[in-house]
Amino acid sequence: MTIDTKKLLEIDRNTVFHASTHLKQYAHGEIGGRIITGAEGIRIKDSEGVELVDAFAGLYCVNIGYGRTEMAEAIYEQAKKLAYYHTYVGHTNEALIELSERIIKMAPAGMSKVYYGMSGSDANETQLKLVWYYNNARGLPQKKKVISRDRGYHGSSIASGSMTGLPLFHAHFDLPLERIKHTIAPVYYRREDDNMSELEFSRYCAAKLEEMILAEGPDTVAAMIGEPVLGTGGIVPPPEGYWAEIRKVLDKYDILLIADEVVCGFGRLGSEFGSIYYDMKPDLITVAKGLTSAYQPLSGVIVGEKVWTVLEQGTDQWGAIGHGYTYSGHPIGAASALCNLDIIARENLVGNARDTGAYLQQRMQETFANHPLVGDSRGVGLLHALEFSSNKTKREHFDPNLKVGPQISAACLEQGLIARAMPHGDILGFAPPLVVTRNEVDDIVERTLRAVNKVTDKLI
Ligand code: PLP
Repeated sequence: MTIDTKKLLEIDRNTVFHASTHLKQYAHGEIGGRIITGAEGIRIKDSEGVELVDAFAGLYCVNIGYGRTEMAEAIYEQAKKLAYYHTYVGHTNEALIELSERIIKMAPAGMSKVYYGMSGSDANETQLKLVWYYNNARGLPQKKKVISRDRGYHGSSIASGSMTGLPLFHAHFDLPLERIKHTIAPVYYRREDDNMSELEFSRYCAAKLEEMILAEGPDTVAAMIGEPVLGTGGIVPPPEGYWAEIRKVLDKYDILLIADEVVCGFGRLGSEFGSIYYDMKPDLITVAKGLTSAYQPLSGVIVGEKVWTVLEQGTDQWGAIGHGYTYSGHPIGAASALCNLDIIARENLVGNARDTGAYLQQRMQETFANHPLVGDSRGVGLLHALEFSSNKTKREHFDPNLKVGPQISAACLEQGLIARAMPHGDILGFAPPLVVTRNEVDDIVERTLRAVNKVTDKLI
């Protein structure tokens, strides 16, 4: 390590509170740090000159790839023209107007308005408030519970962290909030009955949801939130027919559906939105990450016509809505989203996610389906996961203390590859930038195979 890197990391350890980190081990130098100094395409570079292939696009967000000077220019031009003004009481800016019109045109049918935030977490926080306000405006003050799913990920603030269905995000924070309930995750690989087809399993999930609604009381349940494809909980595409079965139950009990498109939105599945891909027909949609490819922090709540009409009635009754963020509709965020959407359209990155995504799925399948350590190889578009198992046929888990997922992720790093050890189970996730090429997919698969083989040699 060079003197500069060492010195900077020491300052970092003394001053920075890092996300998702063992605080003591990092502060005391027991685990390493890395200073990222530059990036280009699908590669990042650190202060020691090490280059890594980023097969997770940061946190599945840098969809157009790194180092786009066009984005820097769009941000610079907007900052020169108008760096900031708020969007309270009808104030707006040109970039925001153009962006909102564009999002509504791209979104699934029936969407009406976009409310902006800075992160997926705050957007989901907004969703919850809107759902509560909606039912207050309808004169249904008791209809407030929100059903999320085990292994769902919706953020780490108080409400969004409650909707997240991963114990790590609840324990020791006194979460989840009481009004948030969790139904079963649609993970076909983890089904208990081997004789169930995918469709039968989807019906079983829908029946479990209905059971929960009836147990809670349908007049107390306001909404369900779900990612089109379970993301951080393990990258799991829904089983056949899942969303249609779920939608039927929600419609029966007058329950809204919030599609959390923070990962899937803007192309990752090879479709503009995951809810279009799976025909979810959501009432509300959350977007973030791919909206700007993370070149600026920007999120959005896309409100459907049905909810919007009631929100309008609410303000008729009570006056201006009591919800607003200083940075909502930030012009620099909007300008970067516009440039990002231009790049996605011009380079047909949604088409690339579909085609190169299909190639990624195929290459992963043929490489890992029969691998002794891999229990499941699954994905859609440019999302893929390998789930490791100590007994392939019985789908058994490894002893969690072995930390097989993190071991394999670390072995990938040794091969110059970033693939993410997902926080639940021994799962390795892939979500490369949407600009990834077939050659790069080959390279990712080959590096992964070398890493998985190395860990296999240690374990078996
Ligand atoms: N929703 C989903 C589906 C996500 O994957 C994430 C982040 O990974 C979030 C919400 C939270 O977004 P943020 O980290 O920007 O708050």
